[in-house]
Amino acid sequence: MNAETYPFIVRPLPYEYDALMPVLDEETLHFHHDKHYKTYVDNLNSALSDYPELQKKSLKELLSGIERLPSQVQTPIRNNGGGVFNHELYFDSMRSPAGQEPEGALAEAIERDFGSYRQWKDQMKQAGVSKFGSGWAWLVTDDKGKLSVLQTANQDVPDLEEYTPILPLDVWEHAYYLQYQNRRPDYAEGWFDLINWRKAAKRYEDAISRKS
Ligand code: MN
Repeated sequence: MNAETYPFIVRPLPYEYDALMPVLDEETLHFHHDKHYKTYVDNLNSALSDYPELQKKSLKELLSGIERLPSQVQTPIRNNGGGVFNHELYFDSMRSPAGQEPEGALAEAIERDFGSYRQWKDQMKQAGVSKFGSGWAWLVTDDKGKLSVLQTANQDVPDLEEYTPILPLDVWEHAYYLQYQNRRPDYAEGWFDLINWRKAAKRYEDAISRKS
């Protein structure tokens, strides 16, 4: 996903709109993907339209060096570029709930760095539930393979020079409000049943092999 450049396109969901039932219903996914995510793509392209030199940069390059960009595009790229990056990872990190569990080197690293899957889940859920306002909870790895849980505000991404994102949990109200109203903890609990551990494990293994 990181090789693409302007103009950015709306990536289709890698599953049907009803695939995440009962945790996330079709209406929630239609609004989240077709409206909210699409708006970030459109606004990112609009922000870049007058900057041919920035149009050659990948999204990761733009987001990693925001403070080196022209000052008037920093905020639009932080908000909308972050919105595109975060949502593409979010939608790509889920699959139909079917009893999936952590696998591979990532499963071992979760036990090593959090004590157990259960302890990681508690920490990740707490990060999502306790985020004040709009934002994200993250499972990330550093370049040595050490995992941690982070929060970011708004559409901010984790520090991409320090971390590789493994799993994102979107806790903006638009991610759950149609179905869960104010019950963010119930949405967060359900999200764990949707995790695509195969893709998460691949991200982790790629991050370690790239940097070691
Ligand atoms: Mn969202």
